[in-house]
Amino acid sequence: MPELPEVETIRSQLSQTLPFTVKTVEESDVIGSLTGKSERHFLPKNMSLVKIERKGKLMDLHFVDNKGKIHHLLSHLGMSGGWRLSTKKVIEKHTHLQLIGSNRDGPLFMAYVDPRRFGVLRFCNEPMYQKEMAKLGVDIGSEDFNAEYVWQTLKKYPERQLKVFLLDQKYFAGSGNYIANEICARAGIRPTRRAGKVTRAECDKIISGTRSLLEGSLKNNGVAFSGGYSDTTGSLGDGLNNLMVFWQKTCGLCKETEVKKILLAQRGTFYCPKCQR
Ligand SMILES: [Zn+2]
Repeated sequence: MPELPEVETIRSQLSQTLPFTVKTVEESDVIGSLTGKSERHFLPKNMSLVKIERKGKLMDLHFVDNKGKIHHLLSHLGMSGGWRLSTKKVIEKHTHLQLIGSNRDGPLFMAYVDPRRFGVLRFCNEPMYQKEMAKLGVDIGSEDFNAEYVWQTLKKYPERQLKVFLLDQKYFAGSGNYIANEICARAGIRPTRRAGKVTRAECDKIISGTRSLLEGSLKNNGVAFSGGYSDTTGSLGDGLNNLMVFWQKTCGLCKETEVKKILLAQRGTFYCPKCQR
């Protein structure tokens, strides 16, 4: 499942092709399950894609129409969604949306591919866009994600288990299962520890751990698990090299202890019994 580094990799690859003038839009008959028919406020035909922003795992594609008005297409990749870039038409199974047009280098095709269809495409008007963005908390890759923020947030819900809490997009936008596991490992905290028992000093470690994790994953263009992710070229990313406990046999921190796997809120959870307390 794509998490912050994977979404950011796709965002940055797509951004390199902008501005992109869209002439036509092709959709498959299943796109309704991704967009919600009544939520269709525009179609980017004859519009320019000028900018792509990201908050958490949500990408925000800015289209400008011929009157200069901005329209937002929000893209959440769900379990297996991804975007492809090509100078020829993308002929790939499970292509749900294809934007066809040109940029400075010539013809361009930008296609949304999603085999399992848990992704969301939302063609928003301004109020809808504001509402969707407001659902997301501080992005874990941003400057606002600091030790004081984590400390104050954990204090609000002292009974929640740290790893489960870290998955909550209302507070930790961009995290996901592998990120939450790895943050706990790098901070030396058991995933089951109650938020109220995390110390202020450990909040510093949560921040430094998050930064080193994101930096490593971004450098490797993301992490792929069981076919859930590939970048705009179809490449799977190399980020597995950067993981300490997630799907690891031996802990990458102490390099000697066997990683334990448990289920926490139905999600696979990994920790080192020696390094995490
Ligand atoms: Zn260890």
